[in-house]
Amino acid sequence: MAKNCDVKLAVMGRAGVGKSALVVRFLTKRFIWEYDPTLESTYRHQAIIDEEPVTMEILDTAGQDDSGQREGYVRWGDTFLLVYDTTDRCSFDEIAQIKAQIDEIKKPQIVHTVLLGNKIDLDHARQVSVEDGERLAVELGCAFFECSACNGDGCISDAFYDVCREKLRQ
Ligand code: GDP
Ligand code: MG
Repeated sequence: MAKNCDVKLAVMGRAGVGKSALVVRFLTKRFIWEYDPTLESTYRHQAIIDEEPVTMEILDTAGQDDSGQREGYVRWGDTFLLVYDTTDRCSFDEIAQIKAQIDEIKKPQIVHTVLLGNKIDLDHARQVSVEDGERLAVELGCAFFECSACNGDGCISDAFYDVCREKLRQ
């Protein structure tokens, strides 16, 4: 009989990287240009992953300039999508620090994370190469994908499902 697992996925990353756009794209296959960057939302999503029904709770986080606020998100989640903007080097440089904070708060638990570079439609403005992303993923010990929430290119669903899969296999 299929087991029904819950995954609490927090979508993390600097303001403006496209977290809200990604979550909405994943859930609705649509792109909406503007979201209030100060709002956080939680969504429930029923998925079938490897033929198993899975209930996902997805937290679209906001305002992570304050690491105290981030701590609350980290405590809430058991899996994490670490998002950066491929056209914003600073958002990429911040990822290692976010991951370190997650590890620190969750230890000795092993946390499941996936690294996701967004906005690849803006190729002319790219500041983070695919190789940089791959290298960081190796360092962090997580899977890596790139995508565009704007046009739906790349591996948005793969990124969301992969991080859940890790948790379910635990
Ligand atoms: P958040 O603060 O991380 O939740 O970021 P938002 O989802 O609010 O997106 C920030 C800005 O980036 C908005 O103006 C979005 O329209 C834009 N954006 C998000 N994803 C993409 C993308 O894949 N490509 C492009 N060109 N713009 C994007
Ligand atoms: Mg947002």
